[in-house]
Amino acid sequence: MELTERLARERRARLAAERLLEQRTRELSTANQRLALHARALSDQIVEQRAQTRFALSEAETLKGQNSRYQQDLQRVRGAVAMAETRLWESLDAIRDGFAVFDSGLNLIVANRAYCASFGGLRVEPGMSYRFLLETLLARELIEIGGEDPARWLDRMMNRLDLDPIPPATLHFTEGFWVRLADRRARDGDLASLAVNTTEQMRIRAAIEAIADGFVLFDREDRLQFCNQSYRDIYAASAPALQPGTTFEEILRYGLRIGQYPDAVGREEEWLAERMREHRGLSALGEHQAEDGRWIRSIDKATPDGGRVGLRMDITQLRAQAEALETARRQAEAANRAKSAFLANMSHEIRTPMNGVVGMAELLCDTGLNDEQRLFAETIRSSGEALLVIINDVLDYSKIEAERLTLHPEPFDLERTIHEVVMLLQPRARARGLDLMIDYDVLLPTRFVGDPGRLRQVLTNLIGNAVKFTETGHVLTRVVGIETGPGSRQLHVTIEDTGIGIPPEHLDRIFGEFNQVEDERNRKFEGTGLGLTITRRLIEHMGGTVWVDSAPGKGSSFGFRLTLDLAEAADPIRPPVTIRSALVVDDRFINRTILERQLTPCGIEVVLCRSGAEALAAVEAGGRFDIVLTDHEMPGMDGVTLAERLRAAGLTMPILLLSSSPTQARAHESAGLLDAIMQKPLLRAELYARLREFTEDLPEPQPEPEAPAPPPLSKARQMRVLAAEDNMTNQLVFRKMLRDLDLDLAFASNGREALALWESFAPDLIFMDISMPEMDGKEAARRIRAAESERAGPEAGGGRPVPIIALTAHAMEGDAEAILAAGIDLYMTKPLRKAAILKALADHCPADARLSTASAADVAPAGVDTG
Ligand code: ADP
Repeated sequence: MELTERLARERRARLAAERLLEQRTRELSTANQRLALHARALSDQIVEQRAQTRFALSEAETLKGQNSRYQQDLQRVRGAVAMAETRLWESLDAIRDGFAVFDSGLNLIVANRAYCASFGGLRVEPGMSYRFLLETLLARELIEIGGEDPARWLDRMMNRLDLDPIPPATLHFTEGFWVRLADRRARDGDLASLAVNTTEQMRIRAAIEAIADGFVLFDREDRLQFCNQSYRDIYAASAPALQPGTTFEEILRYGLRIGQYPDAVGREEEWLAERMREHRGLSALGEHQAEDGRWIRSIDKATPDGGRVGLRMDITQLRAQAEALETARRQAEAANRAKSAFLANMSHEIRTPMNGVVGMAELLCDTGLNDEQRLFAETIRSSGEALLVIINDVLDYSKIEAERLTLHPEPFDLERTIHEVVMLLQPRARARGLDLMIDYDVLLPTRFVGDPGRLRQVLTNLIGNAVKFTETGHVLTRVVGIETGPGSRQLHVTIEDTGIGIPPEHLDRIFGEFNQVEDERNRKFEGTGLGLTITRRLIEHMGGTVWVDSAPGKGSSFGFRLTLDLAEAADPIRPPVTIRSALVVDDRFINRTILERQLTPCGIEVVLCRSGAEALAAVEAGGRFDIVLTDHEMPGMDGVTLAERLRAAGLTMPILLLSSSPTQARAHESAGLLDAIMQKPLLRAELYARLREFTEDLPEPQPEPEAPAPPPLSKARQMRVLAAEDNMTNQLVFRKMLRDLDLDLAFASNGREALALWESFAPDLIFMDISMPEMDGKEAARRIRAAESERAGPEAGGGRPVPIIALTAHAMEGDAEAILAAGIDLYMTKPLRKAAILKALADHCPADARLSTASAADVAPAGVDTG
């Protein structure tokens, strides 16, 4: 059983297994079929996948290649950036200025080496804050903050970082250097900080601070850049406004607000505009008084960049010194004037006794003397006169120095004055054979208003010098004039000579005091060396200028320029009409030219000849002349011989001989040969007068205004002359001088006597000494005038007032006015000259009196040969 059962079970089991197998096989086959389907689908998929994978793979390969290139590029870029960064920092490290970057929290990120080294011994490291940096500088006392509270300073330094732009700040290190911090915010909030060592600039600033003068610098926008303490001290009231960056206008406005400028009150804007104009005008130099009373000199200059730099100097002391100097100068000048006045008085006192010396010597010469005595007397006279010239120079000079010289302008004839001066010098020139010439511009009027006495003095000195320093040749005085207005002319007067000349090194001081050219050539000439000084001062006193030009060995030319008013309407030249042609003979070119210029404007045709021979040839060639003007002394044939030859040829026209020595010519001339002998140089008016004489059919020529009518010869009575003079010597001199005249002469010894004699003697002319005892000459004259006007009351017919001529040694100015104010007509200064007294007598001889003398010729008007 067991076995069967077991077998049964086994068969059942086998059957079941076989059924299961069968079922499984079926399932498997189904599954296989499905699998095969799936496998097919899968393999399709795989094929596709594979294709895709292959594509993806190839794509990946490409990308991989690209990627590695990118990687390489990136690598290179990174390298370059790193390199640049290194270079940048190396460069930043290399520069002298410090550079650092702080983050927005103001902690240091990075700094170059200079920045780290900028803060003295302090170690600056990344991470350190800006504040900590400053705190440490303070704590270690590495910097100087000029007495400011450290906490406040720190706040100020930090607070500035909030401003935009951040104002720079300068740290002054105790070690003696300065660092300027210039900070700036970056866009991301970082702070870039620049630290520049400004020690050099600060040294200059410190130096500018140290100078005593105020210094200020404005930039081109007129903003204050810098000013030192001295400047602040000068403008103390405005000092608070003197902050860097403030404009000039703001500073002024500040001053206006605090009422600093009194002259601006009420017109502030106008004042400001004025000041700004001045400021822009850069008034280069000015002086003003500062608020504290100091005197300040300002110098302002533009800087090359358009700004302005100014200096303010305290010149208080300088001004005080200058004032002290000025006072001292005034005192010295006053002392000098006092000395000059003393000198003037002295020289004037000396003149009085000189009157006796010269006058007596002159008289002595007129007496019967043997040759030796005459020599002595002449020597006394000439020495006395030489001494007088010197005294006169000293007197004039002293008067000018003492400022006591006044001019007495009056109408006078300039041409005649020059002529008179030349005539007086003629004898001296003649002795040397010098030719004196005058070339007076023919179109220039001759009458002007000026001080004839002083002009004569100038001319005498210049022409006299020319004669003195010229051995041979000529001295030419030339006058030309320029019209400066309807009634005035600017005159140019030059005196040319052909003398020794003046070395150039002496020319510029020739017009100075006491200057004489010292060399062997002119040591023989005497003189005071004052003549030219007086000349210059006189001309300058008249508003003119003097000059000199000279070539040593060739000659000199002195000149002056002067503007004078015309004394009358420009006088027309009155041509001596009917003379149509003239033959002029002179060996000197200048003389020929002068004559030609004087004759041509009269409508005369002039033929010029250089010698007698040429003149004869001109006549022989058929020339017809209405008149011949010939020089006297000429080489070859002289003027007298020429006249003889002309007459011998049967010619009858008038012949005028022009001579430097008419007396000599007259001695040689045979009667009727010459129609006139004229003294050279010719006075134009006289030449014209002579020509008029030879002119027929002309109305009577007007008499020359200057020529006094000669006194008629036979008159009823003697002329009565009263001389008041207390000094016995002078009375004697006077008496002797007049002894040749047929006069009724009375003397008074003082004013009182003079007054009495005026009553009893009824003089035609009174010579009145001024300083006399009891009653002086001025008082006597006053009383005479008073009595005269009483007599000439309405009922009485009254007499002519008696001419009174003062005789005075009082040549000082002021005296002249006082003398004339006393009713005196004229005054003469002592020592008296015979010629002057004779002229006065001739001038004042009344119609019913006679003035007959042996020496009447002496009384002739100026222009005669006085030599
Ligand atoms: P002085 O009284 O000595 O002549 P001045 O002042 O008149 O004084 O002249 C000064 C000097 O100038 C003279 O001494 C002379 O040396 C020089 N001088 C003046 N005029 C002339 C001239 N025309 N020619 C040469 N030298 C002259």
